[in-house]
Amino acid sequence: MYDVVIIGKGPAGTSSSLYTIRANLKTLVIGKDDSAIRKAGKIDNYFGFSNTISGEFLLQEGEKQASRLGVEILDDEVISVEKDDFFKVMTARETYVSKAVLLATGQPQVKAKLENLAEFEGKGVSYCTTCDGFFYNNLKVGVLGFKDYAIHEAVELETYTKDITIYTNGRELLLSDKFKDQAGRFKVNSKPLLKLDGGDFLQRIFFNDGTSEDIEGLFVAYDSASSLDFARKLGIVADGNSIVVDKYQQTNLDGLFAAGDCTGSFKQISTAVGQGAMAGRKIIEYVRSL
Ligand SMILES: Cc1cc2nc3c(=O)[nH]c(=O)nc-3n(C[C@H](O)[C@H](O)[C@H](O)COP(=O)(O)OP(=O)(O)OC[C@H]3O[C@@H](n4cnc5c(N)ncnc54)[C@H](O)[C@@H]3O)c2cc1C
Repeated sequence: MYDVVIIGKGPAGTSSSLYTIRANLKTLVIGKDDSAIRKAGKIDNYFGFSNTISGEFLLQEGEKQASRLGVEILDDEVISVEKDDFFKVMTARETYVSKAVLLATGQPQVKAKLENLAEFEGKGVSYCTTCDGFFYNNLKVGVLGFKDYAIHEAVELETYTKDITIYTNGRELLLSDKFKDQAGRFKVNSKPLLKLDGGDFLQRIFFNDGTSEDIEGLFVAYDSASSLDFARKLGIVADGNSIVVDKYQQTNLDGLFAAGDCTGSFKQISTAVGQGAMAGRKIIEYVRSL
């Protein structure tokens, strides 16, 4: 059992871990190697460096610092976060249990470009199987995605319907061994997608080659799950693409915190580092209060 699992190893997540580990909280950081600052070749507006630095350099130094202090850092992708008595943070390989969780996954991933996607949101298009799967009992549904996260969502939907197609939008399925086995249960359509169509509700999905298929629901689980996807499932308040937090970075769910770009703040390293620090401090208080 961890005191805290931090999802994301960008400036927000790593900064927070420096506080929690130095307060002797058992701290695990899980993140992939695609922080926004990896794309920043030159950084001149972050305190403390007399010469221009690269985002890559800053990330590496932050990770070394956290490791030196005892933070466990895992290169992996989180697929799901659940809460009963404690939090369960799931990757394709393992489930990690913790008392608190910090969401620090940066800005949501760019979603698939698909005509009319937004128009059918709430009318056949959903981003949350836990919230909406029930409404698709025995109906024909699709999951839009090509990675573990998409298969995880399809497995959740099996409670409600067996007629499930994975639409990869022209991508190869990119799956870990665990999810490769499970994917075999679903139909897979890998044609590039063109648009959604219907009346008051979604009825059809069109492909670039002019063909179409009838569907009644489409669950979007494209690329990796973001903080926003986790938040939706946990019933966390969000405002557009941003997770709503108070001034201590707490969400409306006890023990769940968010920091950095996923909160829609001023998207800068200094803000992410500051929010991570504040979240760290509050997580320490929270864990000690249990
Ligand atoms: C090109 C570019 C240049 C920039 N230049 C500057 C600059 O000069 N100065 C400045 O202050 N800011 C700059 N920024 C902004 C800055 O990079 C961000 O504000 C900052 O990185 C936000 O930190 P974060 O920790 O919130 O998110 P990120 O740094 O994006 O980190 C998010 C972390 O979450 C991980 N993650 C996401 N999903 C999952 C998942 N499902 N499972 C596990 N891990 C996951 C990612 O892999 C990553 O480790 C720049 C951004 C870009 C894109």
